[in-house]
Amino acid sequence: MTILVTGGAGFIGSNFVIDWLAHNDEPVVNLDKLTYAGNLQNLTSLEGDSRHHFVRGDIGDGALVARLLAEHKVRAVLNFAAESHVDRSIEGPGAFIQTNIVGTFNLLEAVRAYWNGLDEQAKADFRFLHVSTDEVYGTLGSDAPAFTEQHRYEPNSPYSATKAASDHLVRAYHHTYGLPVLTTNCSNNYGPYHFPEKLIPLVIHNALAGKPLPIYGDGQQIRDWLYVTDHCSAIRRVLEDGRLAETYNVGGWNEKANIDVVRTLCAILDELQPRADGASYATQMTFVKDRPGHDRRYAIDAGKLERELGWRPAETFDTGIRKTVEWYLANGAWVENVTSGAYMEWVDRQYTAE
Ligand code: NAD
Repeated sequence: MTILVTGGAGFIGSNFVIDWLAHNDEPVVNLDKLTYAGNLQNLTSLEGDSRHHFVRGDIGDGALVARLLAEHKVRAVLNFAAESHVDRSIEGPGAFIQTNIVGTFNLLEAVRAYWNGLDEQAKADFRFLHVSTDEVYGTLGSDAPAFTEQHRYEPNSPYSATKAASDHLVRAYHHTYGLPVLTTNCSNNYGPYHFPEKLIPLVIHNALAGKPLPIYGDGQQIRDWLYVTDHCSAIRRVLEDGRLAETYNVGGWNEKANIDVVRTLCAILDELQPRADGASYATQMTFVKDRPGHDRRYAIDAGKLERELGWRPAETFDTGIRKTVEWYLANGAWVENVTSGAYMEWVDRQYTAE
């Protein structure tokens, strides 16, 4: 048997493929379009591993997906592929509509046709696991309880709106056609191979490069943070034992204000790689214009996943964030590779000092 992972050259997808093959012998077909966010260098540790089969292509290419499903006798599809950066979705929502909605629809159509052709046992055993985000739930007041799976969808950015649409399509393919689906809604991930347009790797990169550390607005936006391999273990548990058509929230019970995340990163960097002039990296913090429609707080209640499937994160925020800084310090070549080129100009354009 084989699993098909889409978006497996991105941040979470590549961590998942590596994590999967460390825990299973079951091969992975990895379908990724290699947009700016896809990077085969995330997967160099798998070079020569015959269990990993990489294919460059689009989830929206139904004929390609159909061929891969049939050729590899796929028993589960895990859909990580997406346009994932909120700021880019504000600047240009079109690509988000195309991949996150139309792409997921085409993928579901190809999977449905393949699944319909399976024998009864294989049909019952098949799974389509859709990887989604807590951002579909919108924003929370400071005293409101964390998002449960019952929270209504109130997406506020083009990114979260397209993810919400894809979640609804996945749900509909179960209720309408019987496709055996599962959905996970996870909070903010961090860890190795995170593209440096996102807060944590951006701050580490800019700190070491002597650049400003951009803080949106007042920096008091609260996010729940989960170390990426804990997200991977949650997905493995849900794939294995999740109840059909259920959604599972995944989170680390680590609510942090963005400004405190930046301060923590500066303190760890001050300790591990002090600035030559002895000043703290925190002196590089710079307040920049807030993102339009910026959600104030996300908080995830992962109680259902913990109660039903016995999942627990292995990392606390303190252990995970330290590991992450150590990884970036030890992997300068990876960072150098992804931070040269046109997309860095795009990143620089995003952060206009006030
Ligand atoms: P990412 O942007 O790092 O990676 C996305 C990958 O998908 C890239 O490798 C890209 O090349 C690929 N891709 C994009 N469009 C494609 C297409 N049309 N066909 C095939 N491949 C395509 O994203 P990520 O942070 O790894 O997120 C992965 C998934 O997890 C996304 O669905 C995202 O919504 C979800 N998610 C992310 C977070 C987070 O904190 N990063 C949290 C919760 C959920």
